[in-house]
Parts: sequence; structure tokens; C-alpha cells
Amino acid sequence: MSSVIGVDIGGTKTAAAVVGPDGRLGRLHTAPTRAAAGPDAVLDGVRRLVADVRHEAARDGWGAPGAVGIATAGMVDTGSGVIAGANETFPGWPGTPVKARLTQDLGVAVTVLNDARAHAIGEAWAGAAAGVPSALVVAIGTGVGGAVVFDGQVLGGAHHAAGEMGHMPSAGAGELRCPCGRVGHLEAVACGPAIAEQFRFQDPGRPAGTPEVLRLADAGNENAVAVVRRAGTALGQAIAGVVTVVDPHVVVLGGGVAGASAVWWDAVCETLRTELVAPLRDIPVRLSTLGGNAPLIGAARSAWRVVAGADDLPNRGSREDQ
Ligand SMILES: [Zn+2]
Repeated sequence: MSSVIGVDIGGTKTAAAVVGPDGRLGRLHTAPTRAAAGPDAVLDGVRRLVADVRHEAARDGWGAPGAVGIATAGMVDTGSGVIAGANETFPGWPGTPVKARLTQDLGVAVTVLNDARAHAIGEAWAGAAAGVPSALVVAIGTGVGGAVVFDGQVLGGAHHAAGEMGHMPSAGAGELRCPCGRVGHLEAVACGPAIAEQFRFQDPGRPAGTPEVLRLADAGNENAVAVVRRAGTALGQAIAGVVTVVDPHVVVLGGGVAGASAVWWDAVCETLRTELVAPLRDIPVRLSTLGGNAPLIGAARSAWRVVAGADDLPNRGSREDQ
């Protein structure tokens, strides 16, 4: 078996690609995620994309993909492949037996995991944490997701929520309301939409999306700098807390916000160094090298684990840059 298929079901789009044993990707196929239309529509979209990818894999000599790995928004019971929880973007998604339904429809083994965890597994396999024994991987985009990886295996937890950082209490969030409905959680101050929203509050005459606010901060706009530094500082404090408890070898930052602003990056790292005790202070902080493809690649890795005994798969990258 020379390939698997990785699928990433995101809030707005679903992506799928054939993935080789070294993490190499075929062409990316994407389609809008029809989340609002319910689970049947979401799964139908996955089936169509997988059919496209299979067609391409056969044409381009990848061999028949031996398994399909799914990364999805929401909490996932990885063993059963049932969605354990999701936000209002995915009505009806909780309780959906994704693994059972797709295994039947696709006729190959299917693995299912949360997208933040898939992101972390992807980075540990073929990205910024390759060759490192353990990592905290944080994805900052429309939400704040996190996962802890040890030896390529992601930390699970009693409720499938280990490593999730978005709903940590955060002093920096003040009275801001979190998408979960509570007040003062990290996501309420640190996620991409929160950055845009706070900028609108600071400067109502100049509405701007998150990428523009990050650009304005780097250009020296005072309001943007204040908002972006607040978000980065809150995240840095939260990461310091997790690093203090878990003591990973490396921190990897990914998602749409990471890498988009030097002001943000500096705020995160300066806060982290200030908060950490001396033995932990020099922990490397790296930018994701897989970018938006990380969850798909991590999902593919979990599929490889099913078909190939993935412990034999090579890690890309080396320990030399630790
Ligand atoms: Zn929350």
C-alpha cells in the first residue's frame, strides 16, 4: 500500500489529498463544508472529495489508498470515531458516528480525530516538531486549539479534551465573552475574530479583518499594536502555564494568526520567557512549517498507523536543530 488519503473538515472548507508514507502530498482537493446543512451534507462532501482523490491517485500512480484519515472540528472520541462535542457552526455534528458511516461508505479503514490534535500529529511527523520527543502545538485561527504530543502520540484525556487551551481561564481576557458562552477564557481575547473585534471596539471608524489588524500592528498603528499585544500576551501566559505543567521539548505555533505579525510573535515569546522559571525559559518556539495542511497531514499519519504499522515510518527533519 503506497498511499492513504487525508481529509480536513474545517468550519468553512473541507480539504482532501493523497499522502505518501513520507508525508508527501498529492494535489489538494477542496470544497465548501456544508456544516449548516447538517451531518449528512458534511459526510456527503467528504465522500465526493475522496472519490476525486482516489481517481487522481489511480491516474498518477500512487496506488489504491489503503485508509482514510479524517481531521474535524469538534471534540472526537478517537476510539469510536464519534463526535463528542462541537460548536454551533456544526449543528447536529455531536453524536455523529463518522468512523462507522465512512468506513461503510468508503470500504477502507477510517480514522477520525480532532483538528487541533491532527495539526499536532502532522507537525510531529513531518513539520516543525519532527524528530523531537514531545511538543505543545497551538493553533491560533478562528479559535485557539492545542494538543500535546509525546513520541508521535497525542495526549487524549478522560473527555477527549487534553491539551485544548481555548477555554483556559485567562486574566488577560478580562470580561470578554468566549464563544462557549463563558466570560474570561483565552479564546475570547486571543483568537483571530477576537483580535478583529477588539480593534473595531478601539477604532470604530476603521473596520478591519484579522489579517489587516495584524498588518496594521506591524506598521505601527497604536490601536492595532495594543490589541495584538494583548492577544499575544494572554496566549504567552497560557502557554507558560501549560509548559510549566507538561515540560514539552518544543512549542509550535500554527494557524492563521501565527506568523502573520512580528508584534504578535514577540508578545507571545517575551511573555513566555518572562513567566517561565529558569530551567524552562529557553524552550524553542517554532512556527508551523506545514501551515494550513497540518491537520490533513496529521490525519493521514493516523491513517498510516492503521495500514502500515506507522512506527516504521520515517520522520522528516532531524534532532539537530533542537
Ligand atoms: Zn470558552
